[in-house]
Amino acid sequence: MYYLGCPECGETVFGDKEVCPYCGFAGFGEYKRQKEHELNNLQDKLNARQPASGEAGGHAYVDLGLPSGTLWATCNIGAKAPMDYGKYFAWGETAPKKDWTCYNWENYKYCNGTHNSITKYCDRKQYGNKGFTDKLKALEPADDAAVALWGDEWRMPTYNDATELLQHCKCDIIRLNDFDVCRFTGSNGNYLLLPAAGHLGPIDDGIGKYGRYWLSSIGTSQPDYVWCIFSNSENCGLTDEHRRYGLTIRPVCVRTRPTSRTNQDTPGLKPIGPLTE
Ligand SMILES: [Zn+2]
Repeated sequence: MYYLGCPECGETVFGDKEVCPYCGFAGFGEYKRQKEHELNNLQDKLNARQPASGEAGGHAYVDLGLPSGTLWATCNIGAKAPMDYGKYFAWGETAPKKDWTCYNWENYKYCNGTHNSITKYCDRKQYGNKGFTDKLKALEPADDAAVALWGDEWRMPTYNDATELLQHCKCDIIRLNDFDVCRFTGSNGNYLLLPAAGHLGPIDDGIGKYGRYWLSSIGTSQPDYVWCIFSNSENCGLTDEHRRYGLTIRPVCVRTRPTSRTNQDTPGLKPIGPLTE
């Protein structure tokens, strides 16, 4: 973990320090290693218990019993396990950037260096490059990171996919030390875990504190903003975020619930229970 609160003075300490730079607590390094060990154990437990209903193109999905039959991936793009954050993408880009400092308008693929010089997916001329507009309201498959990296059986979720997830699943936040996870539990008892992966960009990254997951639909108010699923320490919902930021992506499968399958195909799923030990 990149930062952790000091148990003696409460200040947030960044990086690998053996001694707290604020109060001089000499046991900080040891304390941090202990916390990391606990966190890894809790993450391993969550990873091991994530239900899966099948897979497509080598990536697992879970059936949450949604009315549309939509199947959500159990991992983020670039992640090896449900609790891994995976890779971060600016919206409409299909490759991650070198590091967090690059997620600015100067390096964003679909603009001319500023938030109001957008060159694709822009329905208002005051945000377009020299007044550019188009009629695109959602990502084309060529600009969808899920299609590009996971293949034709996957896509980024739409605004409607996210709305359905929020309306038909119970959302709760699991606290793992200071690293939160948003859990969506469906009517069939299956659930999806969205770790609070934060974002990459020039402001507070929020890693561990909140989740931001891109959707494929652009925002309704300004084309420099795009919809995403968000979570914080208390709840979850939809918000919009600057397109230039690096956010995580949780794809959905283009297949829907197989008609030959029922929820009895995934028996024995136990409630996850408290993770306090
Ligand atoms: Zn301290």
